[in-house]
Amino acid sequence: MRKSSARGKIKEVLSRLKRRYRDEMETSLHHRNSWELLVATMLSAQSQDAQVNKVTSALFKAYPKIDDYERIKPTTLYRYVKTLGLYRNKAKNIVKAAKKIRQDFNGKVPSSLEKLVTIPGVGRKTANVVLANAFGMNVGIAIDTHCITVANRLFLLKTNNAEKIERALMEFVPRNDWGNLTHLFIALGRDVCTARTKYCNDCVLKDICPSSTVRK
Ligand code: SF4
Repeated sequence: MRKSSARGKIKEVLSRLKRRYRDEMETSLHHRNSWELLVATMLSAQSQDAQVNKVTSALFKAYPKIDDYERIKPTTLYRYVKTLGLYRNKAKNIVKAAKKIRQDFNGKVPSSLEKLVTIPGVGRKTANVVLANAFGMNVGIAIDTHCITVANRLFLLKTNNAEKIERALMEFVPRNDWGNLTHLFIALGRDVCTARTKYCNDCVLKDICPSSTVRK
């Protein structure tokens, strides 16, 4: 797709999605600060946000400060996070992340992509979520599985590589909408453009999406 036509298309896509999903334009992960958002996002890999919120409600009450996590063993965290997939790895990474942030960043979650991705268990997606939602910074676009599905169908990208999709979208999505795009694509992906089924008849993009099953 040419850049100029891609820009025009994304403008229309964003405008329609903002109207349809305006109440879902922020992370549904409960948090009170950047550390809690980092922990919640790490826990959300391959888990539902609602399930993560249940877990963090007890976890953040028991351990309210980042210093608390430096001192505990991962096995202590197991009983809080064991309902989530990959919980052992997640618990280990949370403890390692707290130690790394203390040692290298004076106990404060850094607000730079380069620094965030040096923290154990933090990749570009988690870093972008934290930057956009805790610091209000659009440095990249967080791409999860919903975003991969939606971007492939909407822009015929034909790749499951999140970083390639992020780079492609950054070319033509206005920077001030990078954070919004993640939330809007997730909302669309959960609602009508699911990995398993496309409910194109109920989609606000049905007349401009090249993968739509609705006859024009
Ligand atoms: S029209 Fe269908 S394929 Fe396109 S974004 Fe909507 S639900 Fe997905």
